[in-house]
Order: sequence, then structure tokens, then C-alpha cells
Amino acid sequence: MRDENCIFCKILDGVIPGVKIREDDDFIAILDAFPNRKWMTLVITKEHVDSDILSKDDDFIAKYFQAAKKVSNILKKWLKVDRVWLAVEWLEVNHAHIKLYPFYDWIWFANGIWSWNQASVEELQAVADEIKNNQ
Ligand SMILES: [Zn+2]
Repeated sequence: MRDENCIFCKILDGVIPGVKIREDDDFIAILDAFPNRKWMTLVITKEHVDSDILSKDDDFIAKYFQAAKKVSNILKKWLKVDRVWLAVEWLEVNHAHIKLYPFYDWIWFANGIWSWNQASVEELQAVADEIKNNQ
């Protein structure tokens, strides 16, 4: 199912470019094109599902968080970070998405190293290629 006004549906249909770092039957992980932290990654459902994730059935929630864990492990290995933070909200796009934020250090946390910036598709693709080559 698709929502024609939804930016994530447009990414899934290739109307808007999105740089993928992982995919399975139900979810894809893309590098955020407007990251408020460097290499912020979104795990989104392949179907247009509303973003009230915790209202869904247990099986969906389990599969979704397992997919997020796999993406977190990719980011940890690639970026050599100990932690990846996870956030779930619906403020901008009402299509289910889990935000993953690699945690670098407390200085980064205090200042933000890439606040509300935009990354080019080329820059994101170079990162995705690097991740793929290091798995
Ligand atoms: Zn959508």
C-alpha cells in the first residue's frame, strides 16, 4: 500500500532517491538525507504503515525491532561506536520509521557535529558502498 503524499513511499518507489544500507522482506534502512546527526539512519516499513508503531501487534513490533538491531550492528561495526540510539516518533512523516543515531562521544552529543544539514545522494552512496564493502 502506498500514500501518494508520503515522502517515504516516494523513496520506496524510486521517485525520490534514497540510499539503502540494508533491506529484508518487510523493512529497508536508508541513510537520512537530512541528518541531524552524522549517518543518522532510518529503518522504514516497505508498506505505508502509520507511524504509531507501539499500537501494532507483537509480531510486527518484534520483527521491526529485530531489523533495527541488525542495522544498528552494521552502524556499530562500520563507525566503531559502542552505542546506537533509537527514536520512534511521527512528527514529520506518518509512515513508520525508526531513527537510529550512532553515538560518537559526549562532545558530539553536546554540540552535534552535523546539525540539520543535508547530505548529497553521492555522499550517502559513497558511505553505503563503504558499509557494504566492510560487512
Ligand atoms: Zn508512506
